[in-house]
Amino acid sequence: MNSTIGKRKVPVTAEHRIGLMGGAFNPVHYGHLAAAEEARESFLLERVIFLPCSQPVWPKGELADAEIRFSMVALAIAENKTFTCSRLELERSGPSYTADTLRFFHASHPDWRLFFITGLDAVLEFGSWRDPEGVLELAELLVVTRPPYQIPPSFPLSGNLRVHLIRTPGLALSSSEIRDRVRSGRSIRYLVPPLVAATIAKENLYQERKE
Ligand code: NAP
Repeated sequence: MNSTIGKRKVPVTAEHRIGLMGGAFNPVHYGHLAAAEEARESFLLERVIFLPCSQPVWPKGELADAEIRFSMVALAIAENKTFTCSRLELERSGPSYTADTLRFFHASHPDWRLFFITGLDAVLEFGSWRDPEGVLELAELLVVTRPPYQIPPSFPLSGNLRVHLIRTPGLALSSSEIRDRVRSGRSIRYLVPPLVAATIAKENLYQERKE
């Protein structure tokens, strides 16, 4: 379909609203899945692409192998047709800078309107990210908050119209808590999908204290 602007015919393209769910997913848990679903529904996203990073910019705690983290994410989202998983950051060497990732998607899919979804703690130091202005130009930011949903005074993006907060209902999970539970031999059943728990057990992940 075309529309006329002045004398010029320009194609009218439907907007594709795409969520990019960035994180280490070390490991993925139901909190991530609930947050992605909340983002998809609230922001009318066509789909959410999970982007496990290869090398976090600021590594914290014991980090499982990137391929294993990726395969746990793939297993966790397998049943949801609106969720997919990208190897983009895995296949790029060095730290996973979000600006580079967004530039890739913007160049390869210029008709996508991008929403980058990540956790509140991850954006507290947003000013120190690589090219923070570029990140906000290329994508709106959906910031996941957990109960009790308190925003610290140091939150650097208050009032920015390209930044939106998402409340994840009822789930106060974190990957570091999952790792702690595994290390101390406590159950993670009902906190992560069964196939993720099976991978953690099979690969003997998160047994050593490297936090
Ligand atoms: P992190 O330090 O591992 O996580 C920080 C906090 O955010 C944790 O509480 C974490 O909870 C939470 N979190 C992370 N991803 C989340 C998600 N998708 N949904 C809900 N909560 C999430 O941070 P990270 O994983 O390395 O970084 C998060 C994202 O920001 C990644 O895509 C990373 O590449 C990007 N980032 C970019 C730069 C840069 O470009 N310079 C710098 C920092 C981060 P869990 O532990 O439960 O996941």
